[in-house]
Amino acid sequence: MGKAFEEMWSEIKGKIKEISPEELNKRMTNGKETLLLDIREKDEVRREYIPGAELLPRGFLEMQVEELIPDKERPIVVYCAAGVRSGFAAKTLMEMGYKDVASLRGGIEKWKGSGFEVLRDLDFTRDQLKRYSRQIILREVGEQGQAKIRRGRVLIVGAGHLSSAATMYLAAGGVGKLGIVDSHTVTQRDLRGQILHTVPSLGKNRAESAAKMVKGINPDVSIEAHPVSLGVENTVDIIEGYDIILECTGNSHTRYLVNDACVLKERPLFIAEMKGDWGRAMSVYPGEGPCYRCVFPKPDLDENRSEREGGFDHLGGFMGLIQAAEVFKFFLGKGDLLKGELLLLNGFSMRFHRKPVERNRECPLCGEHPTITHLMEDRDSYGHQINQGRIERWALK
Ligand SMILES: [Zn+2]
Repeated sequence: MGKAFEEMWSEIKGKIKEISPEELNKRMTNGKETLLLDIREKDEVRREYIPGAELLPRGFLEMQVEELIPDKERPIVVYCAAGVRSGFAAKTLMEMGYKDVASLRGGIEKWKGSGFEVLRDLDFTRDQLKRYSRQIILREVGEQGQAKIRRGRVLIVGAGHLSSAATMYLAAGGVGKLGIVDSHTVTQRDLRGQILHTVPSLGKNRAESAAKMVKGINPDVSIEAHPVSLGVENTVDIIEGYDIILECTGNSHTRYLVNDACVLKERPLFIAEMKGDWGRAMSVYPGEGPCYRCVFPKPDLDENRSEREGGFDHLGGFMGLIQAAEVFKFFLGKGDLLKGELLLLNGFSMRFHRKPVERNRECPLCGEHPTITHLMEDRDSYGHQINQGRIERWALK
């Protein structure tokens, strides 16, 4: 190091606060108040980093830090490889008005030498890092969060209106595996609001058309098309390969069937529906809150109402996005989930309502004396019972 540098460094050392790895460890385990900022280059971070760190390379510090840390009172600890670059960065942050800034003495090298944990190699390629960088830089996500999303497996039941927005955002956001179930073929009228499908897909199976779109959006996603209709004979087998299920069919027969299978197999289920000028969404967390039957014990048998009365196509986009958002929050373990709540959106007034919903003790599926303990094997009887509206006897052998 040159003389000028030595002089600058000793001047900076006199102005900044440095903390030891032990102090940092204490701060990181005593609540989440302190923000740990890694200002190294991305290639260095990918080799190893301190758990819980936010990434912001030194070259972008002045430009992006206020977006990342709007609260100037929040305690910040900056680190780099050996504690020099972070010293300069700490001084810059203080000059920008941050009140409580410290630099990790000796950087990540000393942290490791003191026996503290580092995480290694998240295995994202350069292109993937570029693709997800906006999401990765979010405090709630980070490279670790992105890795959790990449491990996620989501089954989307239906490839129509609701599914379009949900599927495209899940694919673009980097969910590792997507499955899409749909037995219908793409028709002209689907092209109006089902943006998963394009003109060349006319006449093709909707699950396969959706899979093609997903590949085009993000080739990293592993996609499985299930060009079948769900019934008692295949639902459990299909959902078992996934962590989360989205119900997007707009068909109450399928919705109750998927609800039953998800509760029996303990899979979180995010349901969205739209009718006319309203949409609603609810999440089912088996064992932790109400299921769809608890809230809607009887199916709406007038399936064709929206065809007759019309509906807003854009509501499908809104409601599907709510489902996608729920998936990302679930994988990250952050944010408020729609647990025990029904979310209603009026497409005219643009008003959202959140209504608490509870488990029903009388629920035949998750109540005190459940009568539904497995899916009924006879598909015709199951369908017949639904058509009769005798849902209390659904799935009973
Ligand atoms: Zn229930």
